[in-house]
Amino acid sequence: MAEATHSLYADWKKQYPKYQSGFFRNLRWLSILVLLGLYYALPFIRWKRPGDLPNQAVLFDLPERKFYIFDIVIWPQDIFMLALLLIAATLALFFITALAGRVFCGYMCFQTVWTDLFLQVERFFEGNRKRRIKLDQSPWSWNKLARKTAKHLVWLAIGVITAGVFVFYFADAPTLLWGFLTLNAPGAAWVTLLLLTLTTYLMAGFAREQVCIYMCPYARFQGAMFDEDTIIVAYHPDLGEPRQGNRRKRLAAPEKVGLCIDCRECVTACPTGIDIRNGQQYECITCGACIDACNTVKDKLHLPNELIRYTSLREMGGQKTRWFRFRVLAYGSLLTGFLLAIALYLTHRAPVKLNVVHHRQPTFIALSDGSIQNNFTIRALNMSSRTQTYTLEVTGLQGAHVKIAAVETEDASGRPMVTLAPGEVAPFTVYVKQAASARQPGSQDIVFKLASRTPQGGENSYQSVFMRP
Ligand code: SF4
Ligand code: SF4
Repeated sequence: MAEATHSLYADWKKQYPKYQSGFFRNLRWLSILVLLGLYYALPFIRWKRPGDLPNQAVLFDLPERKFYIFDIVIWPQDIFMLALLLIAATLALFFITALAGRVFCGYMCFQTVWTDLFLQVERFFEGNRKRRIKLDQSPWSWNKLARKTAKHLVWLAIGVITAGVFVFYFADAPTLLWGFLTLNAPGAAWVTLLLLTLTTYLMAGFAREQVCIYMCPYARFQGAMFDEDTIIVAYHPDLGEPRQGNRRKRLAAPEKVGLCIDCRECVTACPTGIDIRNGQQYECITCGACIDACNTVKDKLHLPNELIRYTSLREMGGQKTRWFRFRVLAYGSLLTGFLLAIALYLTHRAPVKLNVVHHRQPTFIALSDGSIQNNFTIRALNMSSRTQTYTLEVTGLQGAHVKIAAVETEDASGRPMVTLAPGEVAPFTVYVKQAASARQPGSQDIVFKLASRTPQGGENSYQSVFMRP
C-alpha cells in the first residue's frame, strides 16, 4: 500500500493581525518609542572631545579604525573587547530567555519593532483586519491602487530613513546628510543606503513573522534555555475548557462550560497567526497581544481575565515559579563577570601602548670600548586625547644607556624623550648599551618603560631580553 507523503514546505499565508489595545500593547509602544528614538537620534547627538577628535557621540570610524561611544574610544588594539561584548550580549540573551522566554523577540528585537511600525502604516492606509482582508480580496480599483501605493511609499520612506541613519553611525552625520541631499555622498554610502532600504522594506513589509518562524536561529535553539520556571504566554485549559461559543448554551449550563467563549480574538490579534489555546508553540514571540485580546473580551463580559497570561509551567501546575535557579544564576553570574571585566578593562587600560621587537641580526654588538649593544624596534601608540611627551627607560640592566635613533631630546636624567600626537603610532629604533664594567655573561631580562610626563598620558612597560656573549 502506498504510504501517504507530507510536504515539509508550508505555503505562506498572509497574516492580518488585528490591532489590539491593552496593557501589553502600551508596553510595546513604549519599547518602540524608546528603541526607535535612540536609533534615529544617536548619530545626531554631539559630544565634546579635545583637539581634532570627532564630536559625534557615537561614531564607528572605520577608515581610522576607531569606535567612539561617548567618552569611550575603542582602538584596534582593543578588538578582543568586541569578542567580550559579543559573549556578554549572548549571555544577556540566554539570561533573559531563561527568565522570561522570548520576551526579547516580543518587545525589543529590531525585526519585531520595524514590523510593528510597518503594520501601523498598513492599518493607517488599509484599515484594521477585516478591511485589509476585504481590500486584498477585492479587484483592483483606483481606491485600492491609491491605498496600496501610499502604503508602499511610506514603507520605502521609512526604509530610506532607517538605512540612512545606519550609515550615519559610520561618518559625521550632518556632513553625510548634506552629502546625500546634494548627491555628493560617497559611493559606499549610496550602496549601503540602497541595500538596507531594500532589506528593511522586504523584511518588515513582506517577510514579517516568517523571519521569526523560519529565518531566525534564535527561535530554533531557545528551547534549550527553557525550563518549567521560564515565563511564557499560556492559555489555561483547566479554566477555559470546555470552550463554548454559543451564548445560549453557555447561559443554559454555565457550570458545564469553561471561560473560553471561542471568539478567536486571541488568534486574530496574534502577529504570527497561531492559536495559543493549542499549547506552547515555538512561533510564539511572547508579545502579549493575545492576552490583551482575551482580557478585552473578558472585561466586556465581566468574567475573570486570566485565561491567557504570562506564567510558567510550574505555576500552571499549581506551584510557585522559582526565580532563583541554577541556570538563571549561572547565566547571570557569567554575564556580570563579563560586564565587570569589560568595565575594568576600559577604566584601567593604559592610554599608551608599547610593543618591543629585539633585532636578531646581529643579536648583540660588541663595541671597541668593551661595552655590549642590543638594538630594538619599539612601537608606541598614544591612545590619549592629547599630545603627549614620553620618556623611555630600561630597568633590570646595570650600567644601561638608552638612546633612540635620530632623537636628541633628553630629560634631566638623560632619558630620551619622544612626543606623539593623539592617536599617533610611531616606530623607533632604540639602542641599549651596557658599559664594559657592568658586563656579565649570558642574556638577561630587561623591561622597557614608556612614561608620559603628565598623569593623564599614563605609562606602559614591555619585557624583553638583553643578549650578551
Ligand atoms: S500567541 Fe500571543 S504572545 Fe504568542 S505571538 Fe501570538 S499573540 Fe503574541
Ligand atoms: S480570546 Fe479568550 S475567550 Fe476568545 S477564544 Fe481566545 S482564549 Fe477563548
